Amino acid sequence: MKNVWETARYYLKVAAEAINLEPEITERLSTPMRFVEFTIPVRMDNGDKKLFVAYRSHHCDALGPCKDGTRVKPDLTPEEIKALSMFMSIKHAIGDIPAGGGKGGIKADPYSMSKGEYERLIRGFIRRLVPKGAMIDVPGADIGTGEEQMAWMLDEYEQITGMHSPAAINDKPVALGGSKGGYEATGRGVALCTFEACKDLGFEFDKTTVAIQGFGQVGSVTAKMLFEKGFKILCVSDIYGAIYDPKGINITNLLEYVKKTGKVVEFPGAQSIDSRKLFELDVDVLIPAAVQDVITEDNADRIKAKLVVEAANGPTTPEADAILSRKGIRLIPDVLANSGGAIVCHFERIQGLSNDWWEEEKVYQMLEKRILGAYKEISSIAQELKVTRRTAAWAYALRKIAEAMRLRGWS
Ligand code: NAD
Repeated sequence: MKNVWETARYYLKVAAEAINLEPEITERLSTPMRFVEFTIPVRMDNGDKKLFVAYRSHHCDALGPCKDGTRVKPDLTPEEIKALSMFMSIKHAIGDIPAGGGKGGIKADPYSMSKGEYERLIRGFIRRLVPKGAMIDVPGADIGTGEEQMAWMLDEYEQITGMHSPAAINDKPVALGGSKGGYEATGRGVALCTFEACKDLGFEFDKTTVAIQGFGQVGSVTAKMLFEKGFKILCVSDIYGAIYDPKGINITNLLEYVKKTGKVVEFPGAQSIDSRKLFELDVDVLIPAAVQDVITEDNADRIKAKLVVEAANGPTTPEADAILSRKGIRLIPDVLANSGGAIVCHFERIQGLSNDWWEEEKVYQMLEKRILGAYKEISSIAQELKVTRRTAAWAYALRKIAEAMRLRGWS
């Protein structure tokens, strides 16, 4: 596949065929229902005005208002935003969330801008974004944006409308109406799916070995939960390198070490290994939790793990996906495994709309119920249709989206 947009359309097509979806519905879902490109003029610190290009894609709003992240990076493409909005439609339907898929972004390098310039850019994004609001389109965070940027977005939105509207923006700091448990949500969902898949495969937790690529927000929370359940995490990597310990890495100590040094490399007691070798280790479970396209035609044949849990978005190319499936490796797809963040964003919106806040315990209970419910449905669809769990996950989502489209008379 040439790019992530082609990949998204390919997965849609495969799942649509598996459930004999009407061609007109497949065609409608093959492209966003609305895609806007706009420019944001920003006054830079030296007094010059610079123009930035921004995008927002609404894939399909049959199930509810479009929602999700805002990606800011210098090489952002419109195809990437369209694809991610399609993935969000699928994730929302999988999580039983009454929302459609949205994604936005700005072509800019946040690291080359001063904080003031970046704040003006983010506020400009909200001013120029049309349509927006809790019942239409709810932006959240993604690469290049976090709680601070979402607080600026919320403030800008509320300054424009003159109304407090916590449900109009997601991924906010807790003090501004963000959900408790939001930071852990995705990693927690990945860990819950891993526990369930291990049970299905008959793995005993304390005898199960794991390799995790990426030790950021998602990878570190996943690692911590697996470690607490007794899993042996033999290898962990980040952008600076990989560490390996055949006896198992003490993740509690590693978290402390990373807090101090900012990286996993040179963790006392562990060997340093070539990051690329992480994928070929003799482990039971492989969890890519960093970036896309890391399991490819080039390394899929050498993967020894019996279970791959996709914590990152799009870590496996479709070509590698076919190889893993041929080898009988169980794969829990990204649209299910990392949907915990989308689920808790939905809880954040409910809390915003009801002007009430949930305790962390309630957030975790509700998250577990939703993600494990989806896990079971997808496993039974995989058996029913005799397809991979990726195709089953997309099929499960497409059935719900298509039903809403038919009921609305859209087909
Ligand atoms: P993060 O920036 O907090 O952490 C990323 C980690 O990956 C860091 O440890 C970084 O050093 C490492 N990394 C980056 N490039 C690497 C490379 N080339 N090789 C090895 N390691 C590398 O990001 P995150 O929020 O943990 O997100 C990780 C993945 O999960 C991304 O694909 C993201 O799209 C996906 N995801 C995140 C969320 C969320 O809630 N944060 C939700 C859904 C999906």
